[in-house]
Amino acid sequence: MSGRVAIITGAASGIGRAIAEALAQDGNPVVVADRNAEQGRTVADAIGGYFVQADLSLRKDCKRIVDEALAQYGVVDILINNAGFQHIDPIETFPEDIWEEMLAVMLTAPFLLTKYVWATMKAKGWGRVVNIASIHGRVASPFKSAYITAKHGLIGLTRTAALEGGAHGITVNAVCPAYVRTPLVESQIADQARTRELSPQEVIEQVMLEPAAIKRLITPEEVAALVVYLCSDAAGAVTGADWAIDLGWTAR
Ligand code: NAD
Repeated sequence: MSGRVAIITGAASGIGRAIAEALAQDGNPVVVADRNAEQGRTVADAIGGYFVQADLSLRKDCKRIVDEALAQYGVVDILINNAGFQHIDPIETFPEDIWEEMLAVMLTAPFLLTKYVWATMKAKGWGRVVNIASIHGRVASPFKSAYITAKHGLIGLTRTAALEGGAHGITVNAVCPAYVRTPLVESQIADQARTRELSPQEVIEQVMLEPAAIKRLITPEEVAALVVYLCSDAAGAVTGADWAIDLGWTAR
């Protein structure tokens, strides 16, 4: 696969960055969309991509990402909804503004971006949307109410868009990783240690890897490899699915 124009949100770091690097390596023009200008530009420069600074909690910024991508490349073939963040608190004290921001960035923005790229994909009769959900789109854990609600909703959006895209050559899938070693998880280890009164090593062993069959964190490159497959022509019959990459977490 090469020459497909891809928008990747949250591509300044972690999983998004690995996906951007993998798609660019295969010869696909990549639009790096992130609120972090310094890191986003660095990634875009390194892969010969195009950077758009955007805050995905804002509807106008979601629109601008697609407008700039179309102005730059004339088409959008691939959309990877990846940007996200975590906040850990019991429901009783969960900050209401953080609830709203998490749903805006991790659920409403994927809807808006899907909506805005739909016409260009439909016109071409080919499109790929991959939503980076989480194992927490399939099962729950305590203290992550907004994140888990957004990720469960994202799988619902994935299924609906897949049904609407089928007639137009557009596939839509969700990817559901367990813990991937990224800056998001590094800070979560510290947060969980505080909330659960454990050491960082105890959080990794007892909380993060306890349900897993394979006792190690996932690499961003492993997630990127699955995403590259879902974006390929070979995955043309694959749609509406939520793909676990979870070390066997949900096998039990
Ligand atoms: P990360 O913190 O390394 O990267 C997230 C990126 O999103 C950052 O570059 C950040 O600037 C960007 N971002 C956040 N809010 C934004 C906003 N409002 N506007 C624009 N950009 C914004 O995190 P990661 O671990 O690579 O996570 C990427 C995705 O993978 C997230 O959706 C996350 O929920 C999901 N995920 C991660 C893991 C994991 O263990 N790391 C597991 C399952 C799912």
